[in-house]
Amino acid sequence: MLELQDVHRTYRIGESTVQALRGVSVCIEQGEFVAIMGASGSGKSSLLQILGLLDNPDKGEYLLFGRNVNTLSEDEQSGLRNNLAGFVFQQFHLLKRMSIVENVRLPHIYSGLKGDFRKEAIACLALVGLEQRIDHTPNQLSGGEQQRVAIARALIRNPLIIFADEPTGNLDTKNSIEIMKILKGLNDQGKTVIMVTHENDIAAFAGRVITMRDGVIINDDLRGNVKPAGEKILEESGFDLHAAGQGSSILLNGRFVGFMAQAFQSILANKMRSFLSVLGILVGVASVIAMMALGEGAKGAMQEQLKSMGSNLLSIRGGSASFHGAAQGSGAVARFTFSDVDDIASLRTLVKNASGVVTGNARIVYGNNNWSSSLTGTGYDYGVMRSAVPVLGRWFTLGEIERREKVAIIGVTVVKELFGGSNPLGKTVKINRINFQVIGIAPAKGFSGPQDEDDVVIIPATTAMYRVLGKDYLSGIFVEVTSQALIEKAKSEIAALIIKKHRLKENDESFNIRDMTEMQKMLSSTTQTMSLLLGSIAAISLLVGGIGIMNIMLVSVTERTREIGLRKAIGARKNDIMMQFLVESVGLTVCGGFIGVLAGIGISLVLSFFAGWAVKTSLLSVVLAAAFSALIGMFFGLWPARKAAELKPLEALRYE
Ligand code: ADP
Ligand code: MG
Repeated sequence: MLELQDVHRTYRIGESTVQALRGVSVCIEQGEFVAIMGASGSGKSSLLQILGLLDNPDKGEYLLFGRNVNTLSEDEQSGLRNNLAGFVFQQFHLLKRMSIVENVRLPHIYSGLKGDFRKEAIACLALVGLEQRIDHTPNQLSGGEQQRVAIARALIRNPLIIFADEPTGNLDTKNSIEIMKILKGLNDQGKTVIMVTHENDIAAFAGRVITMRDGVIINDDLRGNVKPAGEKILEESGFDLHAAGQGSSILLNGRFVGFMAQAFQSILANKMRSFLSVLGILVGVASVIAMMALGEGAKGAMQEQLKSMGSNLLSIRGGSASFHGAAQGSGAVARFTFSDVDDIASLRTLVKNASGVVTGNARIVYGNNNWSSSLTGTGYDYGVMRSAVPVLGRWFTLGEIERREKVAIIGVTVVKELFGGSNPLGKTVKINRINFQVIGIAPAKGFSGPQDEDDVVIIPATTAMYRVLGKDYLSGIFVEVTSQALIEKAKSEIAALIIKKHRLKENDESFNIRDMTEMQKMLSSTTQTMSLLLGSIAAISLLVGGIGIMNIMLVSVTERTREIGLRKAIGARKNDIMMQFLVESVGLTVCGGFIGVLAGIGISLVLSFFAGWAVKTSLLSVVLAAAFSALIGMFFGLWPARKAAELKPLEALRYE
């Protein structure tokens, strides 16, 4: 049934080579109990590993049920191990994180069969007398008990052959006898047992003793009482060699769910480490969420702002078109006067309202308080056009504007700074050392980008020009066009009018007319800067976070090399191992992403509190962040997972 023909195995360590097996031929029948004996280093384990398909010979043939199995792929061999073989090692190789019943049913994850197999695992534990301890962890068990768990694990797939490498090597005599009785009992039920040992009284349980020295068999002693039931048992067991070597889909049969459960178990086993390793992802995701919320909020605030500025508005200013006050052209600057405002206002079909404005700075004093603010001198129509008519108090009268009276409307920021809680209406303040009477409070508008739109002092344009700022021209003119559709027409007609009146050339750069879309652009540029900043924080921390994940997964793979070796021995295929580690890294990043989403929403709320505009967290950004963090887990987990998957079962098991 198992037949080796002239098998060689040579290990290479750097330059030197060790010939562990040099021409071993042996044939083992179904139902035999074989002990492999010999001095340490004589090649016993090497032989057992080749028989157990944990390793492949360099030279020679291995026929399993008459089929050459050396040519099978790694995954097919894994499938065979899972279905055909049970392994018992000197070091037990139980997984410490799991209860013993979970350890015992572990091979079933890789069997491709449906079900949780807890009942079967408990039945196997009962066979070795441990049914009372199913929920204990390996650390709570003695060595002998641990080895009995390992035997139960070897039995769960009801294998034809049990491979045991010094199963009693770490046990005292009493426990050794217990274990040997169990193995003997299994052999009596028809299972083939192949065992390595160097103790004679242990080998005495076997029906056949093979002795090795320096990589060759020097004695093969059939001690009688063998009952090679042979092919009969094979037929009874219904074992299908061909089917056993086949893989099955990872996603089917609940294997994936098994991986998820194990991933979360291992994440939770290292809570602090897991948390620290996802910190980068957390910060990154939180910034993305906050960034998008901020962007949305800014957009909303801007629309509010534009509404409060008035609709269909044109702004005419001296100088060439500029952003942030930096003039792009050079040359003359047109100076506008009230007569320009009147002329523009007389374009009746196009223009609904027009108002000149002058701007400057105001130092405004009330009692002991003083405050610097921006000063706007306006015409009568400005109040309606720019939604500046006070709710508390009143707007200027035409007469006040004409008579250059010293009356002022102040924004809520100015009220707060100068008056605290008291009522400013009717009070006298000094604006640039001139007494003004406060007649109204401008409606609150909030921020436009970094600019506080409530930090304003509004006075009649005439007063501002002739009494406060000492200018005889306007800073600009606001025009409200009768309808949206007429904006372009109004722009060109107003331009023509100004060019004619001021005797300018066509396309003169000494003035410019802007409409709302341009103002909108200006406003959005500041929020864009902010978004960009948050965006780059997000990108960097996601990258760093990803590298952190990769690092921790590499550590995890190294730490768990023996676990990987064991999993492969009991039948895990490459993809199974790969999937296990990928699920773990994705699980990590998704957890990090989830906490990041919560943190991001928190940050958004804090931002909205301080920025004074409603910050909106969109569902899209949450979904995007979650998807992205999963992707990062996948991308940065791939390499460690591959590394784990490529490990050879033998080397992984030997790893210390
Ligand atoms: P035994 O189990 O009889 O003590 P082994 O089969 O484990 O012996 O080892 C036989 C020889 O091969 C020893 O000299 C050992 O050092 C060497 N050997 C075994 N495994 C490896 C390996 N993975 N790499 C290098 N040398 C090895
Ligand atoms: Mg050995």
